[in-house]
Amino acid sequence: MNILITAGPTREYLDDVRYLSNASTGRMGYALAAVAASRGHGVTLVTGPTSLPIPDGLRAVRQVISARDMLAAVSEEFDSAEAMIACAAVSDYRPADRVSGKMKRESQEVLHLELVRNPDIVAAMCRRRRQGQILVGFALEAADGEANAIGKLRGKGLDAIVLNAVSAIGADENDVTIYFADDRPAERSRGPKDIVAGAILQAVERLQANES
Ligand code: C5P
Repeated sequence: MNILITAGPTREYLDDVRYLSNASTGRMGYALAAVAASRGHGVTLVTGPTSLPIPDGLRAVRQVISARDMLAAVSEEFDSAEAMIACAAVSDYRPADRVSGKMKRESQEVLHLELVRNPDIVAAMCRRRRQGQILVGFALEAADGEANAIGKLRGKGLDAIVLNAVSAIGADENDVTIYFADDRPAERSRGPKDIVAGAILQAVERLQANES
């Protein structure tokens, strides 16, 4: 199966040197890409900036910076994918204006930033999907994990959502629960990120087998 995977953070530049971002390292998404390739899938990785080596054996790699760059790359790759796993920690907002050069400090003690909402990439692909394409998202919740994850599963129109804890960021291990849009029971997987990646890929493979 051709699988499109988004990974890593995005950066939203204020000027040529400063940006808004988050603590995502990309490890879960890169583990998914590596394990999917080792299971014989054609993997297209769309990745924000990370310090990780690109896994071997991928079909294509698109390196992007901002959420809008990621949306453009995903839009180009989506039609040739049978499944998409959205693991990227996309910045929710970007500065309304990007200053060229470097913003001056000047004399103000308080600086107000105007931020505008970024597009929801995986929700946009859910709206665009053709029959049989599988879409899986991630949710990172500080509280009310199950309710929030299921709300996002339904709100975005996903087939499944992987709930993980804030403690997963940058860690070697993960502890996830996968919720499904149909009535199959939730599944839990704990352990090193490549083991968890294997469990997520098995769930995607089962979803795809039900479709075909
Ligand atoms: O709404 P929230 O950001 O919690 O949703 C997380 C899921 O949605 C992840 O799968 C993430 O990759 C995806 N997402 C996206 N584009 C955004 C925000 C989130 O694809 N702008």
